[in-house]
Amino acid sequence: MTQRRPLIAGNWKMNCLRADGLALASSLAAKASEKGALGCDILVCPPATLLSEAVGVTKGSAVAVGGQDCHAAISGAHTGDLAAPMLADIGAQYVLVGHSERRADHGESSTDIRKKAIAAHDAGLIAVVCVGETEEERDLGATLPVVNGQVAVSLPDGATAKNTVVAYEPVWAIGTGRTASVEEVAEVHAAIRAGLMARFEDGDQFRILYGGSVKPSNAKELMAVEDVDGALVGGASLKVEDFWQIIESC
Ligand code: PEP
Repeated sequence: MTQRRPLIAGNWKMNCLRADGLALASSLAAKASEKGALGCDILVCPPATLLSEAVGVTKGSAVAVGGQDCHAAISGAHTGDLAAPMLADIGAQYVLVGHSERRADHGESSTDIRKKAIAAHDAGLIAVVCVGETEEERDLGATLPVVNGQVAVSLPDGATAKNTVVAYEPVWAIGTGRTASVEEVAEVHAAIRAGLMARFEDGDQFRILYGGSVKPSNAKELMAVEDVDGALVGGASLKVEDFWQIIESC
């Protein structure tokens, strides 16, 4: 029997000055401690400026902290970038790689993402590998080949259910208020699961998150879909009450 503990992850993107970000992280940590046993793991991914302090204010709570990206190299001449060992060094436990905004804004390919995932694993971090089709690709009927191809190339051979989480985020649903239907989500998650099971011994244990305009009003029905093991949440992760309701939907 497969037992996958859901993960609810908040991607703060380029939001939150220090006071707001630390208040958000502290409130989540306090809520998590007050509520006791939860039905899911919780992750917040603040901007780089707040990572270290976010680790500090969530210490000892059920809230883990992750970076939003890492470089494939462990150090060197890469101005503005963060290396995976730097994230691990300050106490981060996860890192997002391959978010569609990184793929679009920085031209990152799935091959680049695989190198970043390897760097994350080497540093002892859990890589949250993001994949998803554009609206054009969906309209062309190419969703499954595109997503399967991204998963195949972005995940390194050393990926395991312990060091890797897959996040399916249709690009057209991110920050748009449009959510994929339950049927669309089910179809893609089943295809990702099949690919993971064909390639990895523990493919049935990998967590596959859905992301794209998840909010309190739709979280429960999305979390109930087979092979949906949590959510990657952007906008709604910036409000404690909204994010908490999503956490409680697990
Ligand atoms: C995201 O940034 O990963 C995301 C899913 O954003 P939103 O929830 O705002 O659509």
